[in-house]
Amino acid sequence: MNGYWASFLVLLTAQCLLPSSGHAFFSPETYVSTFDLPYLVSDFLIVLFLAGTEVWLRFNYKYAHNLVLVSGLVISYLGFYVLFPFVNGAEIILILPVLLALVHFSRAVLYISGLSSIVFLGLTYLSAHSYNPRIDWLGFGIAVIYIVLGVLVGRAILERSQELRSSMESLVKSEQKLIVEKAISDKLLKMDALTGLYNHKTFHEYLENLILHCDTNGVPLHLALLDIDNFKKVNDTYGHWVGDVVLKDVAGCITELLSPNNFAARYGGEEFAVIFTDTSARQAAEEAEQIRKAIEDLPLTHSRAHPVTVSIGLCSYRPGSGKETLFRNTDDALYQAKRSGKNKVVLYEPADQ
Ligand code: GH3
Ligand code: MG
Ligand code: MG
Repeated sequence: MNGYWASFLVLLTAQCLLPSSGHAFFSPETYVSTFDLPYLVSDFLIVLFLAGTEVWLRFNYKYAHNLVLVSGLVISYLGFYVLFPFVNGAEIILILPVLLALVHFSRAVLYISGLSSIVFLGLTYLSAHSYNPRIDWLGFGIAVIYIVLGVLVGRAILERSQELRSSMESLVKSEQKLIVEKAISDKLLKMDALTGLYNHKTFHEYLENLILHCDTNGVPLHLALLDIDNFKKVNDTYGHWVGDVVLKDVAGCITELLSPNNFAARYGGEEFAVIFTDTSARQAAEEAEQIRKAIEDLPLTHSRAHPVTVSIGLCSYRPGSGKETLFRNTDDALYQAKRSGKNKVVLYEPADQ
C-alpha cells in the first residue's frame, strides 16, 4: 500500500509538471490540461480507493490480498488514463497489472489483468479518437504486443516458480522423512529388538550418568540383576521359540511393574537389569520382590508345565565406590540367590555392617 501511495504522489507531481496539450493525439487547437475534470476525477477515485482499502485493512484482514491487487489495478489504469494524453509511451504503465499478478502467484490473475489491460488500452484509444480522428493505431498495436509478451513471460516465470515450489516441497518432505527415520533408528539402536527393553549399551550409558549424579548429589541409587532360573531347560524342553516367548513375558512383567523413576534393560541373554532411583533400599527390595512374584505367577502358556522364576541380586550404591564395585556386589547377591535355592531376592550386605 505504501508503494501505491508513493506511485500516486509521483503521478500528482507529473500532473503538476507536465506541459498541457503536448501530445500528438491532440490537435493544436484542442487545449487539454492535466487538471481537467476527468483527470481530477481520476485522482479522486485513486485516493478514494486507496483510502478505502487502508480503512478496510485496519479493521479486517479478509480479502486483503484481493483488495490490494485491485488497488494496484485501479492505480495503474487510472494513472495511465491521466498520463496517456500527455506522455508518449505511457502505455508501459499497463504492464504493471501483469507484474502484480506475478506477486500474487496466480495464473488466472495474470490472464485477467493482461486482458483487462488490453481492453482498457482499447477504450482509452477509442476515447482519444473522439479528440483526434487520425489517431495513431500503430502505437496501440505495439502496446498490445508488449502486454501479450509480458503475459507470456509472466506465465513462464509462474511455471518456473511452481516447479521450484514443488521441488522445495519434496525437499522439505524428504527432510521430514529423514528426521523420522533417524528417530526410529536412534530408538532401534537403544532398544533390544526381542523384548522392547533398553539394550546393554544404553543401560551402561544411563548407569554411568546416574552414578556421576549420585557421586555429586548423593541421591539414592540401587541396582538389581535378574536372571531367569533354569532357562536352558526351558529352551531344551519346549524349544527355543518358547524360550523367546518367556523372555518377552518376563520383560513385559518388569515393564508393567516399573515405576517412572526406574529403568529396565535386557542385560544379556536371559538376564535383566533394573536401576532404582529416588527410592530407599527397602522400597527397592520390595519392588524387586513384586517383580519376582509377578514373574512366578505368569500363566503357563505354550503347554509349559513349570512356572518361570527369576533370581534377583540387589545392591545399593555407595557414593564414590564406582560402577565396577556396584556390579560386583550385585552379581555376588545374585550368586547368593542362585546358590540358596533360586527364585528369591537377595540384598547385598556390606561386610562392615
Ligand atoms: P541358572 O538357573 O543357573 O541361571 O541356569 P540357566 O539355565 O538359566 O543358565 P544358563 O546360563 O546355563 O543358560 C542360559 C540359556 O539362555 C542358554 C541360552 O541358550 C539361553 N538364551 C540366551 N539368549 C537367548 C535368547 O535370546 N532366546 C532364547 N530362547 N534363549 C536364550
Ligand atoms: Mg544367566
Ligand atoms: Mg539363568
